Amino acid sequence: MNKILCDSHCHLNDPAFADIYDGVLRETEESAVGLVVNIGFDLENSALAVRQAAETDWIYATVAIHPTECYGYGPEALDEIRRLAASPKVVAIGEIGLDYHYDDTDKEKQEYWYRAQIRLAVELGMPICIHDRDAHDDCLRILKEEGVLRAGKEPRIPVLFHCFSGSPEFARQLVKLGVYISAAGPATYKNSKKVPEVVKEVPDDRLLIETDAPFLTPAPFRGQFPNTPKMVEYTCRKIAELKGLSYEETAALTYANAKRFYRIP
Ligand SMILES: [Zn+2]
Ligand SMILES: [Zn+2]
Repeated sequence: MNKILCDSHCHLNDPAFADIYDGVLRETEESAVGLVVNIGFDLENSALAVRQAAETDWIYATVAIHPTECYGYGPEALDEIRRLAASPKVVAIGEIGLDYHYDDTDKEKQEYWYRAQIRLAVELGMPICIHDRDAHDDCLRILKEEGVLRAGKEPRIPVLFHCFSGSPEFARQLVKLGVYISAAGPATYKNSKKVPEVVKEVPDDRLLIETDAPFLTPAPFRGQFPNTPKMVEYTCRKIAELKGLSYEETAALTYANAKRFYRIP
């Protein structure tokens, strides 16, 4: 199998994979996926992502506390993220950000962790993966306030908005500031109206693809759980169709973009 695809954001560290992990590794090895970035979302599974990356050569890891997972942590948890970030094959701080989707949202606490981890990434000179759900304006404003995104200049550190859910206008704004944008399974859903427009706004050298597995299984398998890295193929095919490129061209450019963003050799 030609290894032409990169799943730039998934959670092999999620409890959904605990009992089937070896099978998912085997299935990925038999697929076209040659590179997987395993994204941390709390302290425990960031440490697991690091261990999984150490065991398997085509897995890389990121470490962070996700906005909806931040409520139980005190400031000392940042030292643990800093320690984990120094491990081999950790390529970014993420996913970090803001998620205003749920009723129990504590915006202040989320903002505290978003800023603290942005500052850590700047201190370490590492890329950041942003999780932005129903919080587009605040996610962007804080990146500007922290001096990461600067009009007319390159970002201070590489910035990626994963599973992009904003408008074409928001995408245009981000691209102008040098941000990378990643499309996930929702790009393949029939009711997704914004994504085709967004994909047109994002230049070929700024676009990544991902599964966000175990969630967001792409069509025609929408609703199947868990989603797995090999399913990134279906998002790639959809992006190819939207961009008027071949599947192979789209695979190659999104693979190259992921390696450039994460600085994977
Ligand atoms: Zn996310
Ligand atoms: Zn995720």
